[in-house]
This record gives sequence, structure tokens and C-alpha cells, in this order.
Amino acid sequence: MIPTVFRNGLLPLLVLLAGVFCLSPAAPQKGKRGKDICPYCKNDPVLLKRAGLVSHGPIDFGPENGSEGIKERLALSDWLFLETDHMRWASSLRAETLKGKDRKRLAPELENLRELFPEIPAKVKKLDPYLRLHLMAARGEKFYARFQKLLGVTDADFAESRQFDKPYMGNGRFLGEKDKFEVLLHSNRGMHQKFTKEHMGTVVTDSLRWHFRGQHKMLASIPAVDADLRNDVSLYPHTVHNLSHLMLCAYKHFSYDPPTWLDEGLAHVMEHEIDNEFHTLDGEEGSMPDNKGPGDWDLKLKKLHKRDKVTSFARMIRIQTFGQMSQEDHVSTNGMVRFLIDEHPDKFAAFIGAIKGQLNAEGYPDGSDLRGLQRKQLKELWGLTPNSLDVEFHAWIEAR
Ligand SMILES: [Zn+2]
Ligand SMILES: [Zn+2]
Repeated sequence: MIPTVFRNGLLPLLVLLAGVFCLSPAAPQKGKRGKDICPYCKNDPVLLKRAGLVSHGPIDFGPENGSEGIKERLALSDWLFLETDHMRWASSLRAETLKGKDRKRLAPELENLRELFPEIPAKVKKLDPYLRLHLMAARGEKFYARFQKLLGVTDADFAESRQFDKPYMGNGRFLGEKDKFEVLLHSNRGMHQKFTKEHMGTVVTDSLRWHFRGQHKMLASIPAVDADLRNDVSLYPHTVHNLSHLMLCAYKHFSYDPPTWLDEGLAHVMEHEIDNEFHTLDGEEGSMPDNKGPGDWDLKLKKLHKRDKVTSFARMIRIQTFGQMSQEDHVSTNGMVRFLIDEHPDKFAAFIGAIKGQLNAEGYPDGSDLRGLQRKQLKELWGLTPNSLDVEFHAWIEAR
């Protein structure tokens, strides 16, 4: 919940010093769940490297004391870690027995993983904690590539720190942040709340995102506890929703909040690329899965259009917090972002780049008058006004 919490002024609590990182050679992991070492990659550097992975740990993680600190401070859970090229994962997810439809859904992903790790059995009836972690880690890298494609960038666009002789791209190799993206997947809500209380200064029931200023890293803490989030089928799109928020905020460095409509609309679209009927709604208390709203938002958008209830672009850019968004706003911003990605991918990438990288006269990031900037970009890139954009958007809805 980066934007909400930052707006509430809790940010000063977070000027934390870089932790003492534990980067000693990999040691076998002792776990209450039986296996001492990952049965798939065996933490073998050759197998790991081939798969774009770094290590099961110990690794850097969180604001202080790395993965060892997580194990120590959140000791009621049994933790596994996995670092990839752009991300780090900490998971206390438990094993999940797969139903027939889960096995079918997961077959292609498991097939891809099996090519890298032949120890994965041909018929997986149960995802053990290591397999759940490996699946999420592979998806994290896949999503990173998806997001870079959307932004029209590659790793080569991001230097170690700001290059003053080149166009502004932030202040680090990870989309403009200095450190990798991190996700904590909890099987125990108490541990989620302990972590957020200690490091984010707030206790919430649902998923929470944070920017650790000292380390320039983005982290999401996700309690995969309730029935609607515990299992892989929903945890995957929900995690992607949160990653979309983290990565948009990180792009060209998180110096100010991106426009709410863009932030939430994009997170919905990314989530729907995984599961079109799973929705995460952000509010003042974190981001939570939503089972109550309509299943298919494409249909809902058409219905809104018939009733002349689609949120106008002029209204979208006035939305200031996630809490202000109505169900119609969620569906409309999702539709608007889908329209822009499908019909104008290059201009939309340029639009995001301009919104995320505004500089003041002295050349420093500046989040002032983002509404004006959006209108200006609309005109410069498309030759449109908010009203004429609505006309194009509505024509697109009708034609679908
Ligand atoms: Zn492994
Ligand atoms: Zn969201």
C-alpha cells in the first residue's frame, strides 16, 4: 500500500540503515517440513544459474539482517528463500494438494520448470513448499520481463546510479531502484503483522507494500492465509497485482506517487493477464482479494458503457487515493489501461515514462501537477484531450 501509507505520513519511520547482509556460502536449510535441502535444484550453483536463479540462501532480504534475520524475527514460521536475477522471495507457504483442474492449469508451467530441474516428477499431485517457491520465483522473472516489455525498456537502460549525461532513468539497475524487488509470502498472518509493525510502522490484515528508502528497495508482505488467497490459483494473480504496483512505483525511482488510476488500472490488467476473473482491490488498509465484485470485468465494462456509467478520463486523473475508487472506477481504469496497451503500446510506454520521470528546473524528480502533465502528454503523444480520449475509448468498448 505504498501510496496510501506514504500519504498518511508514516514514511519518516522508514529511514532505515542498510542491514548487515549475510552472504556467507550457501548452507543446507534445516526445516521442520522435512527436507534439509531443495530436492529440485539442490542449491547447485550450476543448475541455479541455468535457471536465472542465484541462491536459496542465506541471502540479503528485508530492511536488516537478511534472510537469517527473517528466520530469527519471524520464527513461528518455517522460511525458505530464493533469490533470482531481479527478485528475492521469502516463503513460509505450506504444501498444497492439487485438484484435477489445478494440475491441468499448472501442467505447462511445471513442464517448463522440469526442463531446468529434472527431479520434478512427471505427475505432480502436491506442490511442496520448495516447488511453490520455485514456481513463484520463475513467475517473478517472467513478470519482470512482461513489465519491461510494457515500459519498452531492458536491463541495459538502467545504470548503477543516475547518469547525468543521459535521459533520466532513475537511480539504479532495478527499473530505477538500487536493489531487487522482494516478496514475503506468509502462511501465518501474525508473522505478516509482526513484520509490518516492526518495519513499516503499521499493522494491517491484508497485503502491504513498502519502499525501503535507505536501501532503495521495494517489498511486498503478503499474508496467504484466508481461503481466497491460500492456494496457488489465487495467490499467483494477487502477487502479480502487488508486483505491478511495486514496479510502476520503482520505475525511474520512487520519488513521488504515480497517478492512482494508472497505478491501480495497470495492476488490474497485469493481474487479469494471469486470471481474468480474479481481482485485488486496494484500500486504506492494504490490498485484498475481492470475491464480491463481478467476475468478468470486460462484460461489466460493456454494461457500464450501455448505462453511460464509464468513469471519464477527466474524473480518473482526479482520483487521489485507492480508497476513493468506486467499483465503476476499478472496472473503468482496468478497461482504459487495457485499451491503451492494446491499441497504443508505444505511446502508452512513452506516457508512463513521462509521468514517472518528471524533473524540476534543477533536474530533480518532481511530482507536482501530475494532472497537468497527463493532459499535456495526452496532447503531445496523441493529439487528444481527456474528452476526445473518452470518445476513442468508448468506440473501442463498443467494438469488442
Ligand atoms: Zn531449489
Ligand atoms: Zn492495487
